[in-house]
Amino acid sequence: MGSPWSELLANLAVVAMFVSVWIHTHVWLDRRPAAVKAAAFGLLMGAGAVILMLTPMQLQPGVFIDLRATMVGLAGFFGGPVAGIIAGVMAGAFRVFEGGIGAFAGAVGIAATMLVGIAGNLALRGRAPAMRDIMILGAATACGSLLGLSVLPRSVIETVLPKVVFPSTLLIFVSVAMSGLAIYQERRRLEALQSRRIFKAVVETLPDCLNVKDLEGRFIAANPATAELMQAANAKALIGKTDFDFFPSETAQEFREDELAVLTSGVSSTIEQRLHHEDGTDAWLATLKAPFRDRTGAVIGLITHNRDITQRKQLETELAESQARLGDALTHMADGLVMFDPDDRLVLCNAQYRALFPKTADLRVPGAHHRDILRASVARGESVTPPDEVEAWIADIMALQTLSSHRQVQLADGRWLDVRTRPTGDGGSLSVFSDITEAKQVEAELLAANEKLNLLAHRDGLTELLTRRAFDDALAREFARGRRNITPLSLLIIDVDWFKRFNDHYGHPAGDDCLRAVSRCIEMTARRPADAAARYGGEEFAIVLPETDARGAFVIAETLRGKVRDLGLAHAGSEKGIVTVSIGVGTFDGSAAIEIADLLRRADEALYGAKAAGRDRVHGWRPHLSEPRPTASRRKA
Ligand code: GH3
Ligand code: MG
Ligand code: MG
Repeated sequence: MGSPWSELLANLAVVAMFVSVWIHTHVWLDRRPAAVKAAAFGLLMGAGAVILMLTPMQLQPGVFIDLRATMVGLAGFFGGPVAGIIAGVMAGAFRVFEGGIGAFAGAVGIAATMLVGIAGNLALRGRAPAMRDIMILGAATACGSLLGLSVLPRSVIETVLPKVVFPSTLLIFVSVAMSGLAIYQERRRLEALQSRRIFKAVVETLPDCLNVKDLEGRFIAANPATAELMQAANAKALIGKTDFDFFPSETAQEFREDELAVLTSGVSSTIEQRLHHEDGTDAWLATLKAPFRDRTGAVIGLITHNRDITQRKQLETELAESQARLGDALTHMADGLVMFDPDDRLVLCNAQYRALFPKTADLRVPGAHHRDILRASVARGESVTPPDEVEAWIADIMALQTLSSHRQVQLADGRWLDVRTRPTGDGGSLSVFSDITEAKQVEAELLAANEKLNLLAHRDGLTELLTRRAFDDALAREFARGRRNITPLSLLIIDVDWFKRFNDHYGHPAGDDCLRAVSRCIEMTARRPADAAARYGGEEFAIVLPETDARGAFVIAETLRGKVRDLGLAHAGSEKGIVTVSIGVGTFDGSAAIEIADLLRRADEALYGAKAAGRDRVHGWRPHLSEPRPTASRRKA
């Protein structure tokens, strides 16, 4: 052995060497299970301890110390129980194998430092050791090592201890601190490396552009997404370049101005930028620009983060376009359209809708409540609803909004609206209003024309009384009803007296006038709604009088006869001097005994009786007095 100093340095060098070997090789074991790595660490530290025991330092002749405790303590502290036990057992076994009077004391010291290392490791509970922990380890290992000396024989302790305690303790402490620091630094380096790796991976895989530029706008750092956006070969190709190298100068100038604004103000800002590539394509970016500062806080560049929002912008443009198209369609459609939301607030309507309701157009705007609109519509005299029914009317309309409905409503000014309502998917409603006033007018005209046609088919052209055919239908209907309800029914047959002579004397047109005048008398006489009067043929008329018995029928017949007389129409061919009528009355009392043909025959026979009795009179049917009349056979039911 050389001088104590060179031995000391050699010992420290051995410690440093083993620690260094570990620092440079442990990465290879990273993929192995943790126990394998711990065992390897224990073996290495154990070997170190053995080497150190082979090269002890001679403090004084016969007094040796070594740094085995450092290796064993480090093994337990940094490698955990497995590493600690392996190193401890290796060192202990070697010490015992060496033998001598200090063998037992050495083994005790090794065991004590092993326990110190393992206890320190467990006390950390997985946390990374700090500098303070390493200092405590150094002190504890030194103390543990001393523990071994305490089991030496008393005489030995007295002679050796004072010489050994201080240098041994100091050396162990220093070597533990030194080695611990090295391992600690290595850990820090690895952690930093790891976080840098993570950070790099994040930045490189980030779909957004992230880059840093210097004050002149030159790229200092950029991720691949930036290169892609700039259409550059790769991120490296950007370094030292500016936007002017990649974009048309106009675009680059705009970007530079945005950057200068941030550099001048020193405040981050988010902006939207439009980007024209030289190949003619366009893109949109949402860009965050933040000043990049050095440790002193001085701005030395600019950090830019931008996200490609071209797709979003395209969607926005498409949305705006489709909204414009929808608006256009709403404006140019012929009908009024209105949409209400689930809370019955107006969401959307077109100008035509408002134009249909001029008195409440000011209220028919987005946000207005449907009920308020309806109430105002009534209050302003637009809708026709009695005041006490307004709320019920509103409730009805609100109920209609929840279903598919189709209705026609008339406004106070007479206009007709066709309203088709459909519920929308979100719980609101959509209604289309069409002005159908004209269609309604046409409908009314059609109805009137139909009525006229009906009249033409069922009314006699000269007298406007029912035709014989229509009369037969009315008679059949009333006869059946009388039979069903067992109510009487009377039939009058009226014939103008000596009418052939009237025609012959006054001419056919005058005859027609006379027939019209008699018709008016008939109309005025048979006034009940169910009464039906007809021109039965030539100058013969018939009246059916439902729910009228013979007495009533006679009264009516007499009234009619009187009315015709009262016309006072001159009739030179008649002995009466004026136009008169003869009337036959037939009555059906509701019993099932007779048929319509019988009733007609009875009235006809009664008329025949009246004619025979001198005309200008009313006759009823009397069975015993009636005689067969030749003309009776032509009457048909
Ligand atoms: P009586 O008192 O017996 O009924 O005598 P009358 O002349 O009225 O008898 P008759 O039934 O034979 O004559 C009916 C006449 O009525 C025959 C025809 O010239 C006339 N007449 C029938 N239909 C029309 C008509 O539409 N217009 C006119 N002006 N005369 C008609
Ligand atoms: Mg006649
Ligand atoms: Mg006649």
